Amino acid sequence: MAPVARTVLGDVDPRELGPTDAHEHLFFTTPLQPGEEFADVALAIDEAGTLVAAGVRTLVDWTPHGLGRDPAGLRAVAEASGLHVIACTGVHRDAHYDPDHPLRRKSAEALADLFVADVAGEGVRSGAIKVGASYHRLQPLERTVFAAAAQAHVRTGAPLCVHTEHGTMGLGLVEHLGALGVPAGSVILAHLDRNPDAGEHAETAAAGAWLQLDGPGRTKYWPDSTILALIADLAEHGHAGRLLLGGDTGRSTMFRAYGGGPGMDYLFARFKPRLERELGSELSRLLFVENPARAFAFEPRR
Ligand SMILES: [Zn+2]
Repeated sequence: MAPVARTVLGDVDPRELGPTDAHEHLFFTTPLQPGEEFADVALAIDEAGTLVAAGVRTLVDWTPHGLGRDPAGLRAVAEASGLHVIACTGVHRDAHYDPDHPLRRKSAEALADLFVADVAGEGVRSGAIKVGASYHRLQPLERTVFAAAAQAHVRTGAPLCVHTEHGTMGLGLVEHLGALGVPAGSVILAHLDRNPDAGEHAETAAAGAWLQLDGPGRTKYWPDSTILALIADLAEHGHAGRLLLGGDTGRSTMFRAYGGGPGMDYLFARFKPRLERELGSELSRLLFVENPARAFAFEPRR
């Protein structure tokens, strides 16, 4: 079968994705961020409109089960905004779930069935499978979810979206998934700029995984210049073809529609023009258009 990108409105030719924000959250609620949850479809549509105005064609939503995941809401945003929206199934890292959360009682097989149904079943389909790791370790729930996601990848072909905690264990997680049957080229590692170590990134890129830098605008942790330097370094070492960029707007206080900032469009309205000025428009096109069209493409297996 020809490769597709699976959006909430159906499969599209990956070359149609266009400029892509590879990591966002249109809805998110977690006990870890009390008071910063967002679940309002109308406000998500408002915020998505700012992305369209900034030139975005595709948004990948990384909100997994149990944290406000809303396939019907994503579909409403796609219809109202005209954006391609790729949804995730999957489960986040351990700390996002209460001790008695029902997801904790599911076996790897039951979770794999759930993920496969989300990707290949009836209704609004997901185009990627999210997993999460803790800081420098995998907890028991996370090991179960990794095993389930790997099974679901083998059954559907969908790529895996991996939350790394502070950018730790990237290469180790690629190896762990490789042993479970997931090739590195189907693994997207998020938040690697939270460990701004170009040498480690180069090693992970050489293994064939996708590296996602998704912290532009998080000025209280590091300036955008840190991310630009990482991109320049990786490009210089021949790894620009493994890089993805996302905004990861994960708190209501980051949304202008909720009275916060810098807004979901910061990546395209502010960071992208600067990247083009400092590193060139050819590299920008690779990172925002060509790489996402490969990273989120897969050959459906059922
Ligand atoms: Zn995220």
